[in-house]
Amino acid sequence: MAINMEEDYKRVWRECLEVIKDSLGPENSKAYETWFTPIVPLQLSRGTLIVQVPSQYFYEYLEEHYIDLLRRVIRMQLGAGGMLKYSVVVDQSIASRPMAVTLPSTGRQSTRNRPSDLPVNLNKEGSRELPNPFVIPGIQKTRINSQLNPNCTLENFVEGDCNRLARSAGYAVAEKPGQTSFNPLLIHSNVGLGKTHLANAIGMKTKELHPDKVVLYVTSEQFMAQYAQAGRDGSTNDFIHFYETIDVLIIDDIQFWAGKAPKTQEAFFHIFNYLHQRNCQIIITSDKAPGELQGLEHRLISRLMWGLVAELQMPDVQTRKQILMQKLQNEGIEMSNDVVEYIAYNISSNVRELEGVLISLMAQGSLNHKQITIDLARQMVDRFVQSSTREISISYIQKVVCDTLNLPVECIQQTSRKREIVQARQLAMYFAKQITKSSLSVIGMQCGNKDHATVLHACKQIENLRQTDRHTRALVEELERKFAD
Ligand code: ADP
Ligand code: MG
Repeated sequence: MAINMEEDYKRVWRECLEVIKDSLGPENSKAYETWFTPIVPLQLSRGTLIVQVPSQYFYEYLEEHYIDLLRRVIRMQLGAGGMLKYSVVVDQSIASRPMAVTLPSTGRQSTRNRPSDLPVNLNKEGSRELPNPFVIPGIQKTRINSQLNPNCTLENFVEGDCNRLARSAGYAVAEKPGQTSFNPLLIHSNVGLGKTHLANAIGMKTKELHPDKVVLYVTSEQFMAQYAQAGRDGSTNDFIHFYETIDVLIIDDIQFWAGKAPKTQEAFFHIFNYLHQRNCQIIITSDKAPGELQGLEHRLISRLMWGLVAELQMPDVQTRKQILMQKLQNEGIEMSNDVVEYIAYNISSNVRELEGVLISLMAQGSLNHKQITIDLARQMVDRFVQSSTREISISYIQKVVCDTLNLPVECIQQTSRKREIVQARQLAMYFAKQITKSSLSVIGMQCGNKDHATVLHACKQIENLRQTDRHTRALVEELERKFAD
């Protein structure tokens, strides 16, 4: 009897569908329609039924929610050795990563054919098998949380001369992630000038224009902590694979790795290369220009400069006014033009402070029912300017260092060569360089009237000791925590 294969695969799938529909019951008829009717049977050969699913996400959903049911019906229809194989309709965005997915109805695990150049774990027996397909990050593709802040968009990132290059490069990147020469896109500036906002905004725009792209925002600190955790859990490979599935990777504040985390830097270096080769977009922010990122691996720094390095500067008065007015409009608050101008003219440190003054003023206005006058604005501005200078002053740093070492703060100014005093002075110089915007010679002048070469030497010395000496590392970390508070 001639078997009509074409009829056969359709019949088999139709019978599968009947059992599935039955098993799900009428209360799940919506799920049945959503997840099973769009499946198209394609072929049946040697006990393997191949079906087509509309997207990778679709496949993932089936695997997560209906794998047992599918296994059961396939066995019923095709016998114990029956297999179900998916053919995913690959769209443009993932076309570079061909994927076929096989679900053996007998085994507990499914396997997937990965592009041959992907690293594949060897299990204990040494066979080429993936450890646990249910946690292979690649399969989770479309379901990761992007960690983007929806309040930071390109639309509400006010444009000015200060940010035009970075902003328009960001737009180009969002339109064609990985396809422009701005890869990586490195955005750097002093604190509070919009790096985090812009990096998020590019991610948001990318998702809007390309909903199927996998975008991920992480701070360098999160990345480092995840990497360390993966090391402890023995899941470093999963960590790396996870990052290799990202289409647009945003890492905020990469300067955090400077002088520490050599392993994290190395892991990132490999991820960077992998993503870059596959035309995935990388967006990095830093509070220093790449050339000034001392303590970051040289090969990493050189990679960071492959694409576009764009600096954000302090907005000019007009842009500051616009930022303030936009904020007021969003909050639905009216404020006289004089007050807005007063703030815009007087806060020239960074946008975060600009906003801080405005928020305090708005709070005063609404909580205390005070009229927002120029006088009130002046008080607020004064308070902000004072507190911000106090926070970052070199003398404050000296005080914290000396308190921690149980030394009188005056010792920094003495010419003593006693070991502990030299250490205190070097630590103060090191942190002054890290935290303040003062030049090496200004730092030197304030730390015992030394010259800039001494400060540079101190910074290097602490950096070296930090790598090699346990006590110094502990001390530096303790101080870092104190300054972060
Ligand atoms: P950074 O990451 O450089 O320290 P942020 O991105 O956190 O700075 O920006 C500080 C604040 O200033 C945020 O609230 C951000 O929304 C706001 N901001 C910065 N630049 C702009 C801009 N051009 N338009 C609107 N808001 C801005
Ligand atoms: Mg930031």
